[in-house]
Amino acid sequence: MQNLVLAEQSKLIDTGYDVCPKCGQKLIKKGYTQSKFHAVFSDHKVGIQKHKCRNPECDWQSTPTTTSVFGTSIHPDLAKLQCSQGAMYSYREAQSNLEKLTVHHRLVNNHNKIKLMTNQVGAVLAKENLKLPAAEECVPRATEVIVQVDGGHIPIKDKDKRSFEVLSAIVYRPENICTIDQHHRKIESKSCAFSAQDDGLATIKTYLFHAALKQGMDKNTVVTALADGALNCWSVILSLVPHCRELICILDWFHIAKKFQNVRGTVEESFQDTLERVKWTLWHGKSEEALSNLKILMTSVTDSSKRKKVAALYNYLSQNQAYLVNYQQREQQNQTYTSQVAESHIESIINARHKKSGKMQWTREGAHKVLQIRGSIASNEWSNGWQEPVLIALGVAA
Ligand SMILES: [Zn+2]
Repeated sequence: MQNLVLAEQSKLIDTGYDVCPKCGQKLIKKGYTQSKFHAVFSDHKVGIQKHKCRNPECDWQSTPTTTSVFGTSIHPDLAKLQCSQGAMYSYREAQSNLEKLTVHHRLVNNHNKIKLMTNQVGAVLAKENLKLPAAEECVPRATEVIVQVDGGHIPIKDKDKRSFEVLSAIVYRPENICTIDQHHRKIESKSCAFSAQDDGLATIKTYLFHAALKQGMDKNTVVTALADGALNCWSVILSLVPHCRELICILDWFHIAKKFQNVRGTVEESFQDTLERVKWTLWHGKSEEALSNLKILMTSVTDSSKRKKVAALYNYLSQNQAYLVNYQQREQQNQTYTSQVAESHIESIINARHKKSGKMQWTREGAHKVLQIRGSIASNEWSNGWQEPVLIALGVAA
């Protein structure tokens, strides 16, 4: 069927020549040339009209191909499919998935070709994300937005280094958090930004600003920002100060609770009640009291390795004291204080793609490009927004 349709369609292909580009005389038709064309599920040969110059003195003749006429021999829908697969799975898994879909092996879906396409489209998105979003990409003004900035690590096989850091920024409106059931919540609409660039946070700061604009942030918006306490995450968040009315920074309760849980398992049973009380005091916004009690607990622990763990918790909290709030009060007032929506955590984004494929030799540049497509998918922008980056990557659009 596809061959029959293509045969009809190819008659309508305009190769772009009216007159001879060499001497300006009229052209005459000179049969058809067969050229490769890769549709979504199948590969074809398409006949494209050839021309030659009418002038007997002139030797010009055209040798059109799908690539010379369209910029590519790959249908954009296939390129989109390759990118979607390449962003979500390892390139070999993507190849196998596409083989199952088309029920036969296709050279065009070889893992190297999927990698190439994914990288090309990811590179276009990486560049696009640096540009201010257009008005139609932004939702109306928001009185409040929530920002989560997080860091994750992608392992590499480099002898000197074990991993490199990826930063994520997620922006959403509080009204877009929906309750699924007692234990699950979902963010209906969000803008996600990822960067694996080692550029002093410049890229992720720009991406975060643009993601916040897409969610409706302006100079009158109150931004509530959650982070796990890492200095570079605060630095990214603080770059929003000039763009909003107020920035409320909160040490993410999700991470505080996780840290307490880790220490709890290491201290003696007799100390666990004290530790629990410290956490309770912290929950109620009394950070001074919590910290001084934790310090007393720390000095009471005699085992040096156990003391180190309590000390690490103490240092973590005291370094982030400025970002400790009254969590209990915020919960009562239905305000954000934790990033408890699981899908929003960077680990789930990275794990889904970069950690699973242990054999991959990831570079910052490669990961950065793949993450741009993942970000677009996670932001629900890909299903409507894939065309532009795919067409640019294919050379069909400028
Ligand atoms: Zn000519």
